[in-house]
Amino acid sequence: MDLGLKGRNAIVCAASEGLGRACARSLAEAGVDLVINARREIELQVTAEEIASTFGVMVKTVCGDVTDTDVRAEIMDTCPAPDILVNNAGGPPPGNFRDWTPETWHLALDANMITPIELIRASVDGMIERRFGRIINITSGAIKAPIGMLGLSNGARSGLTGFVAGLARDVAQHGVTVNNLLPGPFETARLQGTLLGAAKSQGISVDEARTARLASNPSLRFGDPNEFGATCAFIASVHAGYMTGQNILLDGGAFPGTF
Ligand code: NAP
Repeated sequence: MDLGLKGRNAIVCAASEGLGRACARSLAEAGVDLVINARREIELQVTAEEIASTFGVMVKTVCGDVTDTDVRAEIMDTCPAPDILVNNAGGPPPGNFRDWTPETWHLALDANMITPIELIRASVDGMIERRFGRIINITSGAIKAPIGMLGLSNGARSGLTGFVAGLARDVAQHGVTVNNLLPGPFETARLQGTLLGAAKSQGISVDEARTARLASNPSLRFGDPNEFGATCAFIASVHAGYMTGQNILLDGGAFPGTF
């Protein structure tokens, strides 16, 4: 299927590895020029070069923490008129809420709520003027089925989800869509961290935590980041222009509800 994205450009945050990288690759495969970001320079450069040489698109990099105001300004300077914005950042650490101070909460809110809202604020009016825009936020399956030890993620991402639900309706008439992609367990470095947290809190080994998590998923496997990236590219495509304000769950069937 031609996604109708050739020659468009995208910002993909937190994209040297994992789900962000997969989104960047799938967009590049559809002919989208990219600005990608992450904190570690070498990993970011390697990813940029791999994507550019594989798909023949332009890939620029902005190295730094996306929660930093100056880094976000540099991202916008490097791609002042994005057609597509993929918001992503590392997830907050697991833990027990009794140990979290206001400072802990502020860090999570900054990464998983305020940073994406700030990048939306910087880009949405241009999208409205150009009458095309795709804003895609990588959130979490925990929005629908909260995981106790991921309370920081549950809380911060729910704030973002509530905000963009309103925004999506405000900007729909201008050809701008706003959607959230909710990953369940995908085989990435982040998943390793989550399994480590589960193992620690339950007093079991990481292997046991992995086996238990796999067994609890109806697909009996973890997601492949490429599946996630392909969904991102479809949501960005011309074919998804009537889909907005949605929370799209990719979890192998783990969420047990009918809707
Ligand atoms: P990952 O494999 O750990 O990759 C994270 C990527 O983001 C890396 O490229 C990392 O590079 C970059 N990054 C992290 N923090 C950043 C920051 N502050 N500024 C700029 N770049 C940053 O994670 P993932 O599995 O792809 O997860 C992506 C998002 O989905 C996270 O928010 C995660 O919590 C959420 N999620 C993932 C799963 C899953 O199973 N994988 C499930 C639910 C939710 P640097 O370290 O070099 O910055």
